Amino acid sequence: MARWDNEVVSTSTLIIGAGFSGLATAHFLMRRLGPEAHVTVLDSSPRVGGKINTVRLAGLPVDTGPDAFLSRAAELRELIDELGLNSDVIEPQPGGAYIWSRGKLRPIPDGASFGLPGRLGPLLRSRLLSPAGVARAGMDIVLPTSHRSQDPSVADLVRPRFGSEVYDRLVEPLLGGVHAGDPARLSAKSTVPEIKAMAEAHRSLYLTMRSRRAQAPKPAGAPLVSIAGGMGVLVDALVKEISPQAVLAGTEVSGVERTGAGWCISTAGGRISAEELVLAVPAYAAADLLEPLAPELSSELRGIPYVDVANATLAFRAHDLPELPPGTGFLVPPVEDRFIVGCTWLTNKWPHLVNDDVVLIKSMVGRAGDRRWLTMSDEQLIEAVRADLSGMLGIDAQPFETFVQRWPKAIPQYVIGHADRLETIDRQVADIGRLHLTGAAYRGSGLAGCATQAAAVADRITRG
Ligand SMILES: Cc1cc2nc3c(=O)[nH]c(=O)nc-3n(C[C@H](O)[C@H](O)[C@H](O)COP(=O)(O)OP(=O)(O)OC[C@H]3O[C@@H](n4cnc5c(N)ncnc54)[C@H](O)[C@@H]3O)c2cc1C
Repeated sequence: MARWDNEVVSTSTLIIGAGFSGLATAHFLMRRLGPEAHVTVLDSSPRVGGKINTVRLAGLPVDTGPDAFLSRAAELRELIDELGLNSDVIEPQPGGAYIWSRGKLRPIPDGASFGLPGRLGPLLRSRLLSPAGVARAGMDIVLPTSHRSQDPSVADLVRPRFGSEVYDRLVEPLLGGVHAGDPARLSAKSTVPEIKAMAEAHRSLYLTMRSRRAQAPKPAGAPLVSIAGGMGVLVDALVKEISPQAVLAGTEVSGVERTGAGWCISTAGGRISAEELVLAVPAYAAADLLEPLAPELSSELRGIPYVDVANATLAFRAHDLPELPPGTGFLVPPVEDRFIVGCTWLTNKWPHLVNDDVVLIKSMVGRAGDRRWLTMSDEQLIEAVRADLSGMLGIDAQPFETFVQRWPKAIPQYVIGHADRLETIDRQVADIGRLHLTGAAYRGSGLAGCATQAAAVADRITRG
């Protein structure tokens, strides 16, 4: 823990939270202001990086939080470029992924976007849905315009147009894989804004997606990429650039106070005064810090729900396993009633993990409404994962090393009303002044969205 013996030290911008959002905000501020930036980043955890965590398993770097990011995300690519990490960006091995449906692994059909079918032929051939389910999906082409509320759920947007099978066996697993959420509660406007905009502008979603795809230039490269050595490389590079002395781990903030000139922040090691305060912590943690100062704002922040998730990575000797299907892994729809939510064979997916001797299989566990794993010991969780791997992939071998990562309150849910809530939050934050909220809870729950928001906060602080 950092200690400065009750002297008040000062900094221009104090960032609470040294996850990717806090570190990225510091990065963009330093790029805009140079040495004048005077940034300090605090984190209560002894480890910086937040959800980014690269651990060693069987001697290989395994990401137990995010392991990929959108390759075409402008601000994130700018940050990676400025850190000199462009040559470390890696693409997954080719091969695609599957959905476990109707007792088998079925390839995710070509053209599916956010789980919505873009082409009926590949959907039929994948056998992911019954023939009746594919026929029902095709009815979107002839159905009259749907009338929806201003802020419909993803389920309300999809089900009336494509039917229950598309919803259960494509949308649920694909959205569940990213947001761990229940599409019946997630706001389409905030979770899949592109699809919501298309649905508003046109009668048939299927025909609109098909014509957009035909007109769009074929994108070069993989849509999702990673960093050789794991995402921890990104965190290390950010801390090195910001300066290890300015990133203080193990420093719990006990209170934030608005002063005439800015802020006074209390920690067990002493007090820090700052002109600008950035809260780059989860919404519920921001709610705790702001409660005495702004109870209404705090209650809005507390209204953003989170889902608990976990994952278990198992290391096997390659010669103990049956041959895995080509590709990189699969997702499991809730209707299949399994324990795991999805599974990646990491050593097939990422070039820096490819290995002749070891097979690493990471299984994701937990989604909205499924908290079975929370009461399990690590051993019980691994046994439940192994039971699914045995039933689904025929893997009965004993792993020689395992790692369980628990992420309680990990994934913010953009539920119906999220956009209105953000407007209220923005107004109340502006009233307080010199306060900035950023992070996965607000306008983009992945790394790309966090980078975009971090750059916007740096712009606002720079403009003054
Ligand atoms: C299992 C999993 C897999 C994911 N996979 C992907 C992926 O492949 N691609 C992708 O783009 N996104 C992915 N995400 C989402 C991605 O991890 C997040 O978007 C991103 O890491 C959020 O960063 P953040 O800094 O906003 O929040 P966090 O990483 O949660 O950081 C917040 C920080 O605030 C600190 N903190 C909290 N309270 C206090 C306090 N009172 N005082 C001081 N510090 C405090 C915490 O210790 C933490 O370090 C995944 C998330 C999870 C959980």
